[in-house]
Amino acid sequence: MSFATHLECSRCGASYAIDKLINVCRCGAGVLARYDLQAAKRALDRDRIAVSGRSIWKYRDLLPIFEPDDVITLGEGGTPLLPVPRLGERLGVRNLFVKDEGVNPTGTFKARGASVGASKARELGARDLILPSSGNAAYAWATYAAKGGMAMHLVFPGDAREINLKGSALVGADMYLVDGDRGDAGRIAQRAAERYGWFDVSKEPYRLEGKKTIGYEIAEQLGWRTPDVLLFPTGGGAGLAGISKAFREMAELGWIEGRMPRFVVVQSEGCWPVVRAYREGRPVETWQKPYGIANGIRNPTPLWGDVIVSAVKESDGTGVVVTDEEILESVRLLAATESILGCPEGCATVAGAARLRKSGFIRPDDVVVLVNTGSGLKYPQLFEQPRVPRLKPGDEIVM
Ligand SMILES: *Cc1c(COP(=O)(O)O)cnc(C)c1O
Ligand SMILES: [Zn+2]
Repeated sequence: MSFATHLECSRCGASYAIDKLINVCRCGAGVLARYDLQAAKRALDRDRIAVSGRSIWKYRDLLPIFEPDDVITLGEGGTPLLPVPRLGERLGVRNLFVKDEGVNPTGTFKARGASVGASKARELGARDLILPSSGNAAYAWATYAAKGGMAMHLVFPGDAREINLKGSALVGADMYLVDGDRGDAGRIAQRAAERYGWFDVSKEPYRLEGKKTIGYEIAEQLGWRTPDVLLFPTGGGAGLAGISKAFREMAELGWIEGRMPRFVVVQSEGCWPVVRAYREGRPVETWQKPYGIANGIRNPTPLWGDVIVSAVKESDGTGVVVTDEEILESVRLLAATESILGCPEGCATVAGAARLRKSGFIRPDDVVVLVNTGSGLKYPQLFEQPRVPRLKPGDEIVM
C-alpha cells in the first residue's frame, strides 16, 4: 500500500493530484511526490522492510504506485554498498564505500527511475511514451516501457552512444536520430507528443522517487546510520534531489537519527551549472556549450538544480568540479585498487573525493559514500587497448 498523497511544486508549493499524468508545475519547476509520513511512521517497521525483498519495490509503501499489478520490475536496486579500503588508503579516507549501481538492469541507476516512472505511467493509462535522450535514460525507459507493454518513442541527439541505441533497438523502441543536439531532440519530441497524444517523460516526476531508493538502501546498509559525506555525479539532478529527499523522509519516519549527510554535487569541467549556482548564490542557469566524456552529467539545463543547491546548503555540503583527465585516472584507480569497473560519471566522485580530502572538507575519519552510477562496461570506447604480448600456438610463456 502506498502512502503517497499528492504532488507539490519544489518552488512555489502548488499542489497537484497524484492520479493524473503531469510533468512540471505551471511555474516551470519540478514537482515532488508527497506522502502521509505520520501514518507511514505508525504502520511501517524499517527492519521488516529491510528483509522483505531485494529490489526497490520492498519500499513500495514509500513509492507512488497504488496498483500492485502495474509495477514493472526487472529486479532493479538492491545494489551492494562495498567497503573500498584500498582506495580509501590512497585517498586518505578510512571509512570509504562505493554504492555500485553498475549491477542494475540496463547497467545504470537509471533503471530505478525508469521502473517507477514507467509503472506510474502505466497505472495512469499511458500507452505511448516519448523521450529525447542521448544516453542511459533512453535505454532504461525503452526497457521498462517494453516490459510493461507500452510503446516507447526515442528521439536521440547526434551524439547518442552506440550501446544505448543498440540496446533500445533490441527491446523494440521506435527510434529517431536527430542531426542536432539535445535541445533539438527535445523540441521534436514535444511536437510529436502534442500531435499524437504521447506522454513526454523527459520531466515526469516519478523517476525521482525511483532514484531516491538509493538513499534508503545506503542508510539500511549502514545499519540505519547516515554517512558523513555522500558524493553524487549530477546531471539533470533527479538522483541527488531524490537521495536527499529520502534522507529527509527517513528522518521524519524516525528511521535515522542525527544529522543529514553532507551532500556533494560532483560535475565536470565542461558543464557545471549546479556547482556554479551553488558557488555564486544564484538560481541555476543554462550552461553554454557543454562538453566532456561523462555524458550522464553533461546536462546544460538541470531541472532539479535549485532543489539540489538548497539540499547542499542545508546539509553543509559543497560542490566540486573535476576534469576529464581526473575522471579517466579515477576509472583506472578504482579498477586497480578495488576491481570495480566504474562509469566515467561514477568515477567523477572518486576524483571529487580526492580533491575534497586535500581541501580538508573530507576528514580522515568521515564515513564517505561514493555513488558509482553505472557500469564501465557500457563505455568500452573510453578504455585504452591494453598492450599484450602476442604468442603463436606452441609458444611458451616466459616470465
Ligand atoms: C543520468 C546519469 C547521471 C546523472 O543523474 P541525474 O539524476 O540526471 O543527476 C549520472 N551517472 C550516470 C551514469 C547517468 O546515466
Ligand atoms: Zn510551481
